[in-house]
Formats: sequence, C-alpha cells, structure tokens
Amino acid sequence: MEKQTFIIEAKEAESMAKDLGFETVVQLLPSLVKSAQKLARPPISKFHVGAVGLGSDGRVYFGGNLEFPYLPLHHSVHAEQFLITNANINGEKPVWISHIAVSATPCGHCRQFMQEIRRGTDIKIMIIPADYNGIQDSDLCFNPLSSMLSHPFGPPDLLEKDHPLLLEAHNNCLVLVDSVKRNGILNGMQGEDEEVWIQLKNCALEAANKCHAPYSGCPSGVALMDSAGKVYKGSYTESAAYNPSLGPVQSALIAYVSGGSGGGGYEKIVAGVLVEKKGAVIRQESTAKLLLEAISPKCDFRVFHCDSSMN
Ligand SMILES: [Zn+2]
Repeated sequence: MEKQTFIIEAKEAESMAKDLGFETVVQLLPSLVKSAQKLARPPISKFHVGAVGLGSDGRVYFGGNLEFPYLPLHHSVHAEQFLITNANINGEKPVWISHIAVSATPCGHCRQFMQEIRRGTDIKIMIIPADYNGIQDSDLCFNPLSSMLSHPFGPPDLLEKDHPLLLEAHNNCLVLVDSVKRNGILNGMQGEDEEVWIQLKNCALEAANKCHAPYSGCPSGVALMDSAGKVYKGSYTESAAYNPSLGPVQSALIAYVSGGSGGGGYEKIVAGVLVEKKGAVIRQESTAKLLLEAISPKCDFRVFHCDSSMN
C-alpha cells in the first residue's frame, strides 16, 4: 500500500513548493488536496473530501472525512475537523491554521467548527475543483472564512475574550478518582493487564486535560490501543453551536487513522478508555461505547472518572 501522508514538515513543504515552481507553501496547498482525498474513509457516501492546511509552525496538515457504517450520520468526521484535530494532536506546540485548501465547499457545520480557533473567521479558504490540474490558476483564490459567514455566532458570544480556544494550550486540572480495576485479559495481549490499563487511563486523562469544553464544563478524553500496543489519544472538542462538537472517540480515531494505522481497519483497535467527570451533565460513555462497538466489536472498553483537582 502507498504510504499515506498526514503531515508535511516545514522544510519539506518549502522544498516541495520550490521544486514545483511555487514561491510560497500557500501556493503548494491546492496541489496536495488530491492526496488528502485519498485519506478519506467514507464507506457510506463514497464522497471523498480532502483538506490541507498550513500551520503557523510551517507544517502542512492533512484531513479527510470519516464515516462509520451502522451508526447515525452525525457520528461522521468532516475533513476540516480531521485537519484541525490532526494539528491539535500532532502539533509540537499550539499552532494556528492560516490557510486551508479543500476539495468541496465547506459545509455549514465546518464553517461553524473552524470558528473555535482564535480569529477563525480570518482563516483563508480555497475550494479546489475536481478537474484542478496542479497548475496555478488565477481563477482560484483564498477567501477568508468571514466571507462565508456573514453573521457569525461563535466563541466571542459565549466566552470571555482571553478564554483558551481550540488549538491553544488547555489544562483542565483534572485528576482521576477511580482506583484501577483488574478484570479480564485484553484480546491478544496476555499478562501485563494492569499496566496496560494504567497506561490507557493516564493517556485518556491527559487528553481530557487538553480538552476544549468551555461551554459545558464537562471535559473528556479517550485513549485507544491497537493490537501492536500503540496508543492513540483524543480530546473531546466543543463548538459554541453545540452540534458541530467532536466526540472524544472521533478525535482518538483521527489520531489512529493519522498516526500509524497504515490504512488498517478499526478492528485492530483492541482496547479503549474514556475518562470523564463523574456525574457530569454531558456524558460520553454511552455514545463512546456505541461507536466502538459498531466499528471495533472486540475492543475492550472501560470508563474511569475524574474530577477537578481544584475541588
Ligand atoms: Zn463539513
């Protein structure tokens, strides 16, 4: 299988742009959209959406849409959400996304989601037609997200001005409150059971601490493990408009798809842990279980609770 690219390092992006005769990495973005479309996993619509974005760290981040059979459509991940989550998970430090080139017009859901980034309405978007031939085209241009959202409703309507937004550093000051339970043996992983769960639990707590949930105050995080023992972390991500929020399992699946699944299916995920607040108004447990059961029925899934260390 052809090696899939989810991130291009800054230096490599610069030299790729130069080799293709572009003056800037921004001009390179449209030519990468087709590769991003190949990363999509849309078994229901078969409609492959690809998005590539330039980070303030000079890296290029990729995203594709993910759809999950046997589940309602609202569990899907859009390419722009994938791209932003990819930058959130894999950025070495908090990044800002300045430009996004995408293979289809961003839907209303994504226009809303992108606003969770500071100055989100300044993000420049270019829509790449299916017949784009990789040559610079004067008809194609980047337009700010604000041109697609004339009367936006976003974080400034609900949050204080200096509240951390998506892609900015978060620390939710959460600590675990459950003790470790030892029961069962993971699929294909004999022994060292307790250690595995401790590792997953700590990774899910880390994801919950980085989670952007300013509207509900109910952060959560998920850690998934594949059959090779590799761990993938995902943080729940809220939107000011609520519905475009991205669940913690979806985030962790983005980490799985972009971080070494090698194009493999979700059935390789053998264990998962959700960490969320006990008695929270917003609970992920039932939905997380539903999603994992549908895509990876053998996954051993457990829930642990956390609370604010401030209490
Ligand atoms: Zn969308």
